[in-house]
Amino acid sequence: MSSSILFRQLFDQTSCTYTYLLADTQSRQALLIDTVYERHERDQSLIRELDLELLACIDTHCHADHVTGSWLLKESLGSQILACGKSGIDGLDRALAQGDRVSFGNPYLLVLETPGHTAGCISLVTDDRHRVFTGDCLLIRGCGRTDFQQGSANRLYHSITEQLFSLPDDCIVYPGHDYAGRTASTIGEEKRLNPRVGGEANEADFVGYMENMLLPHPKQMEIAVPANLKSGEPPENQVPRAPDWAPVVTTYSGILEIYPQWVAANRDNVHILDVRTTYETEEEKARIKNAQMIPINELRDRLDEIPMDKPVMTICRSGKRSVLAFDILRHAGWEQVASIKGGLLRWYAEGLPVD
Ligand code: FE
Repeated sequence: MSSSILFRQLFDQTSCTYTYLLADTQSRQALLIDTVYERHERDQSLIRELDLELLACIDTHCHADHVTGSWLLKESLGSQILACGKSGIDGLDRALAQGDRVSFGNPYLLVLETPGHTAGCISLVTDDRHRVFTGDCLLIRGCGRTDFQQGSANRLYHSITEQLFSLPDDCIVYPGHDYAGRTASTIGEEKRLNPRVGGEANEADFVGYMENMLLPHPKQMEIAVPANLKSGEPPENQVPRAPDWAPVVTTYSGILEIYPQWVAANRDNVHILDVRTTYETEEEKARIKNAQMIPINELRDRLDEIPMDKPVMTICRSGKRSVLAFDILRHAGWEQVASIKGGLLRWYAEGLPVD
């Protein structure tokens, strides 16, 4: 894989799941591996902010511990849903099998069928064999469990030792989960040091280990498996809806932003909170008509002056401290609050009215 690949490893704290973003910097075409339902907005914001076109979400298997975001991302971005044909997942746009290629611009991912954790697990290798995304087959110093969903310790042993361990020793292993904050390993490292399957372990050693683990079932299993068999499509009345009080955009940094044009056009229905310091506002006299002026350094002590019956739109000079103001209000209980994108600089540049 050449230097023209954009790569991100994203994490969900609740399920300890890694989601991977891969994109071709030339064509801007992108893939996501193993998305998480509750993180779809984060992923969508990142795709938008990095100016990428999401071609597909690939699930390495039908997960038992979290629900995939593939269906939601298809709804919002038009991306396809891909997984192994043997995963049992309904309505795939493309059913993957051993040796298939999934292209994103010039680069591609090669599909390896690596069953054992489930019967429909795949691993994905970059075309230069420099990175492998192993899902729940091979984990860092561990591996996926094999005690449900047609799991088989014997099949997992063969998947790891024959398919994955034949990759180059310096191939970087990116797992589907890690519960200790470890982010990556290499094939060579796991061959040598994996306590279940590395070193001199043979199939009987491995199976003996796996069959005596007696793990509790994942808490989410009864919910996650049926949901993932539909790629995370929620019941019709539970589809997450965009806020109806303003066309706000959630950024990758987790704040709500609003475009100044919309604020200007809906001036009477919103409350504008200007958080510039007194010095600045005396120097720069322009302000938005009827904007409430509370300097950011006084905001926490003056929250009781801010109304709660209208959406609050925060603003400052360039749209940085207004983000902090957004955070302060959000934590203090305001639900309808957003930061005006670009601040007054953008407001002026758009030719919107000031006093
Ligand atoms: Fe899994």
